[in-house]
Amino acid sequence: MSPQPATGTSTTPGTVTFAGAGPGSADMLTLGVLRALEGADVVIHDRLVGEEVLALIPAHVTRVDAGKEGFGPSTPQSAINALIVGHAGTGARVVRLKGGDTGIFGRLDEEMDALEAAGIAFTILPGLTSASAAAAAIGQSLTRRGRNRGLRIVTGHDMDGFADQDWKGLARSGEVAAIYMGKKASRFIQGRLMMHGAAAETPVTLVENASRANQRVIAATLSTLADRAADLAGPAILLYGLAPRAAVHALSALNEATA
Ligand code: SAH
Repeated sequence: MSPQPATGTSTTPGTVTFAGAGPGSADMLTLGVLRALEGADVVIHDRLVGEEVLALIPAHVTRVDAGKEGFGPSTPQSAINALIVGHAGTGARVVRLKGGDTGIFGRLDEEMDALEAAGIAFTILPGLTSASAAAAAIGQSLTRRGRNRGLRIVTGHDMDGFADQDWKGLARSGEVAAIYMGKKASRFIQGRLMMHGAAAETPVTLVENASRANQRVIAATLSTLADRAADLAGPAILLYGLAPRAAVHALSALNEATA
């Protein structure tokens, strides 16, 4: 595998591959990312990368948990940038492993900027985003003829707090949105959408730990969203406008009953 450099010429022998780890299950990792992990000297990974994927990193590869460096879960981005640049500066083949896809709420641009400023070449290997795994888990497609012509990928949170969105557009019947980082913002999202006329019975399905052994599906509606979101402990995608397909729902209910 020889991915094309995305930018720049290297002034140091080190390189960085940004790689998407997918939602957690090893089955959802691409062959390209697996090969990159196998050829790496150093893997710098996020907190959200699944255990099954971490287990595929060869033992001789140096593993750095960027979520735990410094100050725990809220490691400043500048410290992570410095970490990547520092390792690549020694000539190492660095894989920067991010949960899901590299280009969705992954702060990829900040890290690319830092590498570019340091004159370090990089490539990008995308991954499967958690919304795709969440939709598959409930037996739904993210777009459907006659229902939604587009899919919105939104965040519940940004640097300023709860994120503002096009609530009026989202409140229209048939809209579908994959809401990332929506747990804490769920009551805010619920309030904004209802205020803009969304029906209280609009389905919202919460998929926690999508694709992992501890995956949980919670079928809610806009009116129950905030109360049901309070039960979430792990990372979750809120699938606004989608209910679990009946047959799949029956199966997960069965799994829960026999667990
Ligand atoms: N780049 C990632 C998203 C990073 S933002 C991607 O493409 O999936 C972090 C958010 O992603 C979490 O708050 C959660 O909303 C979502 N997320 C990541 N992994 C998940 C998983 N396995 N199951 C459900 N949601 C997940």
